[in-house]
Amino acid sequence: MISLKGIEKIYKNGSIEYPVLKNVSLEIGQGEFVIIMGKSGSGKSTLLNILTGVDKPTKGEVVIDKTNIGNYDEGKIAEWRGGNLGIIFQFFQLIPTLSVLENILLPMDLVKKIPSKDRMSRAMQLLKKVGLVDHAYKMPSALSGGEQQRVAIARALANDVQLIVADEPTGNLDSKNAEIIFELFNKLKKEGKTVIMVTHEREMIKGAGRKILLKDGEIVEDTLVEKEAKVG
Ligand code: ADP
Ligand code: MG
Repeated sequence: MISLKGIEKIYKNGSIEYPVLKNVSLEIGQGEFVIIMGKSGSGKSTLLNILTGVDKPTKGEVVIDKTNIGNYDEGKIAEWRGGNLGIIFQFFQLIPTLSVLENILLPMDLVKKIPSKDRMSRAMQLLKKVGLVDHAYKMPSALSGGEQQRVAIARALANDVQLIVADEPTGNLDSKNAEIIFELFNKLKKEGKTVIMVTHEREMIKGAGRKILLKDGEIVEDTLVEKEAKVG
């Protein structure tokens, strides 16, 4: 489903070059739950940005569903993202001037994949899924961090996407709220969604199928978690 081939990313500052990703190749299949780990600065966010087309590699190919997205222009990539990809960030990034419900309706109204007559009931269903129906008409600022992240998950699912990408989604949450978020991701995996998540939390690995470790812009470990668990 997703294939990265020989990805390099070099940031330039004047004449100085900073290589951030070095020859990263990777294949992720439909329905996989992949955890990406690695120290701060190892290139995790850059890798997510490249595999979602938010950023372009300096070298190498990104092929998603047999399409080389390097051949897409910005508009086409944005269109593809809208209908196929849900992104979840560490700091939720809800729109503060919109209610919880409106935050979830917005991507549906923008992408128009879900028929307009179904959008409201779908938004309420998604809020039910994340346990926040009672908060539909509140503003995001009235919710706790854990609740806001659950809204962000509902929003990411709004357009019935198959691919969910999350960059340290529990990085700003206490362990109890992190647990709730992990459970939701596990549920998504069980529903057959492809989930790619950057996290520092080791407990999360149990739920995932695969762990990738980045070090200084290179994949130094790529293991199936079940196998690892048997050995340990
Ligand atoms: P991680 O998410 O693993 O913490 P990042 O992918 O954010 O790492 O960053 C990897 C490296 O690339 C860091 O050293 C960071 O400073 C550098 N970097 C990230 N974005 C830029 C940019 N736009 N310009 C220059 N350097 C950057
Ligand atoms: Mg990061």
